[in-house]
Amino acid sequence: MTNQDSIVELHEVTKSFQSGPTKLQILEGISFSLSSGQSMSIVGPSGSGKSTLLQIIGALDRPDSGTIRIAGKSPLDLSEVELAAFRNRYIGFIFQDHHLLPQLSVLENVLIPALAIGTPNEARIDRARSLCETLGLADRITHRPGQLSGGQRERVAIARALIMEPSIILADEPTGNLDSKTAAQVIELLAQLPKSQNAVLIAVTHSHELASAMDQSWSLADGHLARLGS
Ligand code: ADP
Ligand code: MG
Repeated sequence: MTNQDSIVELHEVTKSFQSGPTKLQILEGISFSLSSGQSMSIVGPSGSGKSTLLQIIGALDRPDSGTIRIAGKSPLDLSEVELAAFRNRYIGFIFQDHHLLPQLSVLENVLIPALAIGTPNEARIDRARSLCETLGLADRITHRPGQLSGGQRERVAIARALIMEPSIILADEPTGNLDSKTAAQVIELLAQLPKSQNAVLIAVTHSHELASAMDQSWSLADGHLARLGS
């Protein structure tokens, strides 16, 4: 079943890991779909497979079985080279530990996805500056990550995820390392992204505040995704 409007569509996705002689069944048939402008939170115990699921949606890992459609394409049908281009074009990943490059400035870090496909043009550099401004980093663009607070680094990671205007924004515990005041600012920012960027946002989180700011709340446990009352 394919819904024309959905940007993210998973059908019966499964994933296991081999641990010595034992097979760990992590995801047991995950199905859901999201349309442009929608947001979804995923909560669940540590080790339940939240990051694994996000990595599969972001085409950084492959499921054992099931189908995935992202922006009308099946990432599972693409070659490694095509996949890299696909991720760069459609997916904005906000990693749990940011993965910022310490030797680059804030502006350069934001531009990394653009640099991956060549020298960024003026429009792209303007977008990087304007994202930094929106995120309250205007006076920090020449700083290195080591000179920033945790909340500022988080915002650099968000700006970098948005630089290519992705259809899908994936965030793995984006407020996990932030104090409550900074977390509240990041939550406010994330909550308006799906509408303002015309994108889908999927956020894995332990934060009730972030979860309740999303359109849909789901929990992942024992391999299954269940919709929570909203
Ligand atoms: P969560 O993000 O919900 O804490 P993860 O998705 O990181 O959980 O991990 C789910 C389970 O899968 C854990 O038991 C973890 O040890 C296991 N796992 C994750 N990645 C791998 C891997 N590459 N190889 C083997 N086991 C893995
Ligand atoms: Mg995780």
